[in-house]
Amino acid sequence: MQSWIELDRGALRHNFRSFTAITGENKLIPVVKANAYGHGLEEVYKALDPEKPAWLAVAYLGEAKRLRDLGYGGRILLVTPLYGDDLSEAAQLKTEVFIGDQRALDQWCKANRKPPCHVKFDTGLSRQGFFPDEAAGVVTALATHRDLVAGICTHFANVEDVLEHEFATLQMSRFAAAVQTFSDHGLKPLKHCASSASCLLLPQSRLDLSRVGISMYGLWPSPATRLSYLQLNAKIVELQPVLSWRTRIASIKLIKAGDYVGYGCTYRAMTDLKIAVLPLGYNEGYLRLCGSDQSYVLVRGKRCPLVGRISMNLMTINVNHVAGAAPGDIVTLIGRDHEEYLDAATVAGWAKTIPYEFLTRLHPQLPRKAVS
Ligand SMILES: *Cc1c(COP(=O)(O)O)cnc(C)c1O
Repeated sequence: MQSWIELDRGALRHNFRSFTAITGENKLIPVVKANAYGHGLEEVYKALDPEKPAWLAVAYLGEAKRLRDLGYGGRILLVTPLYGDDLSEAAQLKTEVFIGDQRALDQWCKANRKPPCHVKFDTGLSRQGFFPDEAAGVVTALATHRDLVAGICTHFANVEDVLEHEFATLQMSRFAAAVQTFSDHGLKPLKHCASSASCLLLPQSRLDLSRVGISMYGLWPSPATRLSYLQLNAKIVELQPVLSWRTRIASIKLIKAGDYVGYGCTYRAMTDLKIAVLPLGYNEGYLRLCGSDQSYVLVRGKRCPLVGRISMNLMTINVNHVAGAAPGDIVTLIGRDHEEYLDAATVAGWAKTIPYEFLTRLHPQLPRKAVS
């Protein structure tokens, strides 16, 4: 592939240390699921390794295996539901799992090899977890395996999208009820519920562990999260973006006024125009919906609007105003170029989505290069 991702290792370590300062030593779980939010699991692991993270969270057994193969000896938490034989494979990989429904609980109790579990409670997301009033029944089912109950946890539904967080407060009180039931029966595992936004905004949500994903990579979960943070704190916490995405101009074309560009002839040049062809498209993960009037990339520190539709492996930009633009010039799709900075949230916004989705769609085969 003819575009590449640059990973700023120093930025990743800075974010790790900033969150460790917030959560306390060994209470941070960097979430490296989904190929480390598209950044590249191996490269992110290697960059974090010097910080000796006590925990990492993944989504798939393949990711847990990868971390073990790379030599990671810390604790791994797998955050998607697992059943059947996958439970013993998790045990083999020393990977801790969420147990969030009766089927998983029954299979876990019966499994010969059991991974340590974190009992998940559904306090308002209606996705994964037992309801808090089921806690006593769960404790009974766990009776003979208490030493393998490593955690009790929940997940917030509505922190990122709002400036007021009363639903999160309600969820925390529901969670507290489940924790109380566990504790009444003498079970006191690690308690956790926070992800990036709640870890940043709600100190009372940090508990024993915080599972931080998007902000580990230097991004705010949403503009509302940043605003809420500024309302609550005198000074913004500095998150440093880790990922840049670049390519080189493949060719330059001079087109005439009236010529069309791209599939569907959606773009028509109003004047003679110098355009550049870039060797990437939606297969690489540049979202096709980005082909709108407002979207641009950076060349020689200048904003260059996208013209025409994005194709599978090609896209076209207007470089009329970039003196000397030539094949081989570096093009920045995400990241800094001279005075300009283009962030993942902006590009995601052009395609009516969020940085989470945009980043996790970056093709796994894009080369990842560590910088700094
Ligand atoms: C992905 C995930 C997180 C991390 O969320 P961010 O908003 O990226 O910090 C935390 N907890 C669970 C259960 C998750 O699945």
